[in-house]
Amino acid sequence: MVVAATHASGLAAAPELAVAAGFTYEALAHRVVFGDGTRERVADEADRLGIRRALVLTTPAQQADGEQLGRMLAHRFAAIFPEAAMHTPVGVTERAMRLIETSDIDCLVALGGGSAIGLAKALSLRSGLPQLVLPTTYAGSEMTPILGETRDGIKSTQRSSNLVPDTVIYDVDLTLSLPSAMSASSGLNAMAHAVEALYAPEANPIIAMMAERGIAALASALPRIVAARTDRDARREALLGAWLCGTCLGTTSMGLHHALCHILGGTFDLPHAETHAIILPHAVAYNACAAPQAMQAIARALGAQDASPGLFALLHRLELPTALADIGMPEGGIAHAAALAARSTYANPRRLERPALEALIARAFRGDAPMQ
Ligand code: NAD
Repeated sequence: MVVAATHASGLAAAPELAVAAGFTYEALAHRVVFGDGTRERVADEADRLGIRRALVLTTPAQQADGEQLGRMLAHRFAAIFPEAAMHTPVGVTERAMRLIETSDIDCLVALGGGSAIGLAKALSLRSGLPQLVLPTTYAGSEMTPILGETRDGIKSTQRSSNLVPDTVIYDVDLTLSLPSAMSASSGLNAMAHAVEALYAPEANPIIAMMAERGIAALASALPRIVAARTDRDARREALLGAWLCGTCLGTTSMGLHHALCHILGGTFDLPHAETHAIILPHAVAYNACAAPQAMQAIARALGAQDASPGLFALLHRLELPTALADIGMPEGGIAHAAALAARSTYANPRRLERPALEALIARAFRGDAPMQ
């Protein structure tokens, strides 16, 4: 957890101000292995954790990769549970818990994106078992002490340092199969974590360095991945960027952008990463006047004149949907979403004003350019 310098106005303390006022930085404890082909070190990493009987977790789509990983774990592989799902439904977690209780499992090994890693966190919370995770998207959950779970369609989020995976193996090879569009939207999801860390109440110079480097890495890599899905150099750069952006999410509190995505995703069942990609330029435009130093850092990292237009241009360049209307949002939901957003308790540098939020969501609904 990070406790940053406080800022008298109550607005986000810009990193420069934080240096002057002093700040506290507390790193999350975990071991990270990064590189090409690193999944082949999974057995060694399992031994470091003292694992005898691992339960491998994947989504149904990644079951074959999970089974291959199981073979690499050899005698340490006890079973696979290939039912991870978006937003960590409690029913799925409870089914996996029964398997843990009857199969003498002593470690959770998740291979996949935020869904598989979310399941590992939910199971660790209930069982106390250690987690070894191999991320295959850029969502960043592996770097956070955060778990979002869904029960009867209602999502609740909790934070605890116990939720942080013990070992993270980043293997560039595992990301080569991520389709271009998913890579682009997942990468913008990651970028959003770094953007909001720059104007978070806990902003500090250490996180600001990671945020700017993370945004720059993804801004450079994602267009190259869209042009050539298996561009290994671009994949390596994007994965490093995702790591840095995930750390930003894990060590600061998020603002308007994450509040809006949480509300829109939960209320209208919109796809997670695409919602982040569409909303990001608009949320940044909303906050531009209240967080000028963060805007400069974002623009620098993008190599753009201004932060919000730079993000909107990137969204177009990545050939992603630019309108909430195109990913399933009903037009009749705009006013309701704005009302919910105005009541949100997320920390944000600019006050959350309902009419301005409604205009923001309406622009995002139509795919219009962002406006301050
Ligand atoms: P995901 O894990 O749901 O994956 C989406 C689909 O892509 C799945 O079918 C998966 O099997 C497939 N896939 C993943 N990697 C692949 C690859 N390399 N090649 C081919 N297919 C691949 O998607 P996500 O965006 O990574 O995660 C979204 C979830 O994570 C949401 O529930 C979100 O709330 C959560 N999340 C949590 C945190 C946190 O800190 N707790 C952070 C970010 C996201």
